[in-house]
Amino acid sequence: MSETAPATAGTRPAGIHLDRVSVAYGKHTVLDGLDLTVAPGELMALLGPSGSGKTTALRAVAGFVRPVSGRVYLGGRDVTALPPHRRGIGMVVQSYALFPHMRVAENVAFGLRARKTPRRDIAERVAEALEMTGMAAYARRYPRELSGGQQQRVAIARALAIRPSVLLLDEPLSALDARLRSGMLAELARLHRELTDVSILYVTHDQIEALTLADRIAVMDNARLQDCGTPQELYRRPRTEFTASFVGNANLLPVTLAETGPDGTVGADLGGTRLRAHGAGAPAARGAAATLCVRPHLVGLGPGPNALRGTVAEVQWRGATHRLLVDVAGTRLTADVRELRTPPALGAQVELHFAAEDAVLLPVASAPAAVTAAPEAVPGGGGRG
Ligand code: ADP
Repeated sequence: MSETAPATAGTRPAGIHLDRVSVAYGKHTVLDGLDLTVAPGELMALLGPSGSGKTTALRAVAGFVRPVSGRVYLGGRDVTALPPHRRGIGMVVQSYALFPHMRVAENVAFGLRARKTPRRDIAERVAEALEMTGMAAYARRYPRELSGGQQQRVAIARALAIRPSVLLLDEPLSALDARLRSGMLAELARLHRELTDVSILYVTHDQIEALTLADRIAVMDNARLQDCGTPQELYRRPRTEFTASFVGNANLLPVTLAETGPDGTVGADLGGTRLRAHGAGAPAARGAAATLCVRPHLVGLGPGPNALRGTVAEVQWRGATHRLLVDVAGTRLTADVRELRTPPALGAQVELHFAAEDAVLLPVASAPAAVTAAPEAVPGGGGRG
């Protein structure tokens, strides 16, 4: 993986900045040279499968694990040697970790008391944090008298009460049922909009959470950063096969590079068929193996550009769409087709097509592209819409 240029004193970005941070347990490297910057006001999701190193990265920011190499900066200050309680961060974990014998207000006040905040200020900050999380009416309850969603709100209020400039969220919704989760997603999006100076690092294995909330997503796999960009960038123009298949569904077709067109598209062959796709990030050499990525909902049924003939192997009705699995030139293509009154029969010969603009050529998985998560010029800017 490539690296950001070494930061020099005085120019380190505010917010969260990880500079080539590696963490190992014994001989086992679980975080390998992570470069990551989260600007003030930005929400960065760390997305990846279980065991990919996301929580370890979060714990390195919090100070619960010590990197074997690399530095951690918060607000431009090197905090690598500081203990967690001196880093001024708010943290929320999956299991809430509320104190059962304390009322809600006492739980929220905990971090402030530990910091010896004056009494008068504590009352004001607790009220503010409970207000922000919609829990003002529950201040005198005990955690056992709250639902799971309410307990999670209290945990968030507790993290916010210290007015942190860095907020770390570790799978904060995974203990909630689906209905509560979608309500809390909207709540977190609102909080993120209100916390305009706070850098938020959000660990999740759920692509919907990442796509919904994040200004940018850092995709992790196997202890490494695989890709980083806005949700739209990663979805429309993934740079690796891993990102393409982890962020949304993807057809990954084995092709051979043929030629580069004047319009920036690249020609590639699948079996005997010439296809055109967006070419950035593809290997340059003619005849090289590459992967063509196209999303199932962008594959149409019938004639059109990039037409492929194949045999229908399966038809699945999904309410709004029919999912067609079609065998084409020794590979299987998935097409999610809307408004299909009469789906084709199994074994039928069909034609599929997609626009060159909707397809992207990627290097084959054994040669992952180098990635650097550089700071964003406009915090929170390009992430939604
Ligand atoms: P993720 O959050 O992506 O699921 P983690 O960062 O929790 O992944 O874990 C990354 C790897 O580090 C895993 O293989 C995990 O087993 C290992 N690991 C995590 N914590 C410890 C620990 N305290 N001791 C040894 N190995 C650990």
